[in-house]
Formats: sequence, C-alpha cells, structure tokens
Amino acid sequence: MTDTRKPPPVATTDAGIATASDDHSLSVGPNGPLLMQDHYTIQKMAQFNRERVPERVVHAKGSGAFGFFETTADVSQFTKAGIFQKGRRTPMLARFSTVAGEQGYPDTVRDPRGFALKFYTDEGNYDLVGNNTPVFFVRDTIKFSDFIHSQKRLPDTGRRSHNMMWDFWTLSPESAHQVIILMSDRGTPRTFRHENGYGSHTFLWENAGGDKFWVKYHFKTDQGVENFTDAEAQAMSAEDPDFHRADLWNAIESGDHPSWTLEMQVMPFADAADYRFNPFDLTKVWPHADYPPIEVGRMVLDRNPENFFAQIEQAAFEPANMVPGIGPSPDRMLLGRLFSYPDTHRHRIGPNYLQLPVNQPRAEVHSYNIDGAMRYRHSGNQPNYSPNSYGGPQADPAAELPYWPVEGGEIVRSAYTLHREDDDFGQAGTLYRKVMSDTDKANLAANIIGHASKPDMQSDVQARVVEYWRQVDADLGAQVAKGLGNGG
Ligand code: NDP
Repeated sequence: MTDTRKPPPVATTDAGIATASDDHSLSVGPNGPLLMQDHYTIQKMAQFNRERVPERVVHAKGSGAFGFFETTADVSQFTKAGIFQKGRRTPMLARFSTVAGEQGYPDTVRDPRGFALKFYTDEGNYDLVGNNTPVFFVRDTIKFSDFIHSQKRLPDTGRRSHNMMWDFWTLSPESAHQVIILMSDRGTPRTFRHENGYGSHTFLWENAGGDKFWVKYHFKTDQGVENFTDAEAQAMSAEDPDFHRADLWNAIESGDHPSWTLEMQVMPFADAADYRFNPFDLTKVWPHADYPPIEVGRMVLDRNPENFFAQIEQAAFEPANMVPGIGPSPDRMLLGRLFSYPDTHRHRIGPNYLQLPVNQPRAEVHSYNIDGAMRYRHSGNQPNYSPNSYGGPQADPAAELPYWPVEGGEIVRSAYTLHREDDDFGQAGTLYRKVMSDTDKANLAANIIGHASKPDMQSDVQARVVEYWRQVDADLGAQVAKGLGNGG
C-alpha cells in the first residue's frame, strides 16, 4: 500500500487532469439531475464496468510470487540453455492455481494444481507450465476440451457433476494414473508451498555440440510434501476459501521464502525408440530406477506481487516460450498446448499481451509483428517486412530449437505406436501397491467412495467406476465396490 506518512498526491483523471471531488457527482443544484459533462464520474463508472478481463477457462483461481532460479550443478553436457549453466541466477515468476473452479472458488478443493513458471532469461522468456502431478488425464490434445467440460458445469443446471466426471474418466481409461493421484491426499495439498511441481511433459535438451537428450523436470518442495485429508480440505474450504493464497502471501511477507529443488530425469536420445513405455505419453512417468533424477538447481520465491491484477491475473504463461537448447517432444498434449496457450492470451488479454510489464522479456525484442489493440512499444521506422534492404532484424539459423527426425508416411488419426509395456492401468497399480503407505491407501479408498457416491451418480456409471478401480488393483476395486454398494 501507499506510504501514508507522505502527503497524498492530487487525484486525477486517467488523463492526468486534477479532479475536484471523489465524493459528489456534478448535479444541477443539490437535488437536481446529474450532468453529462461530468467526465470524471463517467470515466470512473465506465472504467469500473470494464475492470475484469475474461477469466481463464482453466486455472482461473491462482496466486503467485516472484523470485529466482539458480543453477547449482554443471549440466552443460545436456543443454546449452543459458539459464541452466552452473552459477546462473535468473529472475522468475511462479503462479499456482486450481484447475476447474472459477475465480471465487475455494482453494482447498480436490483438484490438480497448476505450477506455472516464467523465467526472465537473457535469451528471452522461458515458460515451464506444469502441474503438481507428473502425469495428466488424457494423452491426445483433441480430448482436452472434452475433459475440461466434464470438470466444469452441466449445460442445464449450471452445476458441477460428479457423474459427468466419472462418466468421462471411466470412458477414458488413460486417465487412471492421474485420477489415482487426484483421489489420493495429494489431490488436496495443504498449501502451495508443500507440493512438488512437474514439467510433466517430456522435453528435448540440446548441448553446445548438438547432442540431444529427452528430459523431465521435477521441482521437489524443500518444505516437504504435506496434504490435507479430505475432511480437513472441506473444512478449510468453508473456513477460508482463500487459504492457499493467504498462506503463500503470509509466508513470503514474513521472510519465510519457499523453495524447490529442480531434479531432472535425462534419457539419451536414442533410448526413446524402444523404451518399454512410450516416453512421450503424458499419462506415464519414467520410473526413477530407469532414469534417476539428478539435481540441477533451486528456485526461491521471495517477493509478493505489488498489484495482483497486473502481475498475476495478467501474467501469460505459454509452453511455446522455449529458449535455445530446449525444445518440445512428440508429446501430443505438449504440441497442442504450444498453440492453445498463446491463443487464449490473445483472446483473454489482447494481442499485445507480451508488452505488459509482467510478460515483457528482459531480452530485447526485434520482431516484425506490428500494431493491434493497445500496442505501446513500437519499433519506430524499422522496416516492417522481411527481407528488406534497410537494416531490419536478421534471423539466426543457429537459434532453431532442437527437434527430432520424422519418418515419412501417411497422414493418419491413430494412437501412438505401441511400446512393449504401454497400457492404461499399470503405473496407477504400481503407485498403489509399491509406493502408497497403508494410510495413503485407506484415505484413497475413502476419497474415491465419497467422491463417487454423490447423489447425482447414476448406477451404471458407478458400476464402471468399480470396474475402473478393479483394473488398477483387484483389492482396491473390491473396496470401492463394497463402499459404493455396487458390485460393478
Ligand atoms: P520410486 O519408488 O522410485 O518413486 C516413487 C515416487 O512416487 C516418489 O519418489 C515420489 O515422488 C512419489 N510419491 C510418493 N508418495 C506418493 C503418493 N502418495 N502419491 C503419489 N506419488 C507419490 O518409483 P518409480 O519411479 O518406479 O514410480 C512408481 C510410481 O510412483 C509411478 O508409477 C508413479 O505413480 C509414482 N511417481 C513416480 C514419479 C516418477 O517420476 N518416477 C513421480 C511421482 C510419482 P515425488 O517426490 O516426485 O512426488
């Protein structure tokens, strides 16, 4: 807030003209009609009507903070990206969010959490737009909007529907790995500070010599993973719908700066072709035993926003922002998101969203894009077409991001090529049997049963719910059948 010890400045219109009153509109006599020439009052009302930009369709409710990322290990053998050179410290912004709820929704509901990072590197903005889970509900971008619709509201009642969610999930068995994590207590994190973040997708790194490596990002919380139980999360939704927002803000304000250690899994480029799973399938992790995580760096959040709207609401993260030394992979969800994120920002904030202070790169911008609503940074009399003979910016072929060779062939609509152990339920079953404690398992079963026994659940969908969990694990399926009173 403003320093109250200083004398306040004179109030002005947005054109900087001093104003006479913030208490009284201009009227004909004390009891008379209001006047059209009261530009200041009209400006206040008209501006107020336009205060909101459309909220994000997904990840609408979020919180964020600024900080830095520091590379602590030498990984130059894997990538030439400046941000990942040992000792480099890069300013950054993080935004955490729920996925399905709207802006006023409670923070502690069962939902994945967005974990979006923007690094203001010397080579341009690098955005890593992940979640607090290493996998996702679907593996092809064509299903994304259907999945989100199933999490949102029914067309007739305008209410959310557990029946709709389970209908979609049980008809989309690739969702099982993400749904088991969502239904576990990791679906209700205690705070944003006590959750891990994952780049989730597979990306491609390239070193200075042109060698390529497939990689996955894991930001492990230094605060330790802590979750609410279902009952605690529900109680907190009623007590303080902004609990996560308050926790993050208060921790940073009190000097308790949250941090995360970045660990990477690195797969030699050639391994992908016959790895036992499809390494680009977003519903799968790479088991740690196959590709042990290596420590790379640390991110620290140490500064709250000064203005929530300008710095968090208008923040625009886009997985397409990749800097030299980092590229995409054939992951179909990632390839879809390369388009959909910048597209939503153009719609939500406007075509010149990258000129807003929070989105502006620290690196200089010399592009041939011009004009559009609200553009304020212009390139003067620089030529606005390429090629030109008048000293306009020149592209650098060395700046091409790394890619992979693509075989010729027919244009098809098809699942990924099968690898030996590709399936929908295996890794969910491994998580249940090999990783979860007895308490995790008991809470998971109770959470599933509670979630799938809401009054709107139809019995045929419930029967499919039982079958879905049976395929993850026979015992878990039996518990769910018993709890739902539906044998499937
Ligand atoms: P590991 O035993 O090497 O790793 C298991 C990992 O699971 C842990 O390192 C931890 O990763 C995460 N984890 C621990 N408790 C839970 C929980 N209650 N819910 C969700 N995740 C938990 O085994 P694998 O690498 O072979 O993976 C086994 C299973 O673990 C996978 O099928 C997957 O479901 C899950 N998992 C694997 C991850 C990976 O990248 N390999 C990452 C996360 C989960 P972390 O601290 O990163 O959360």
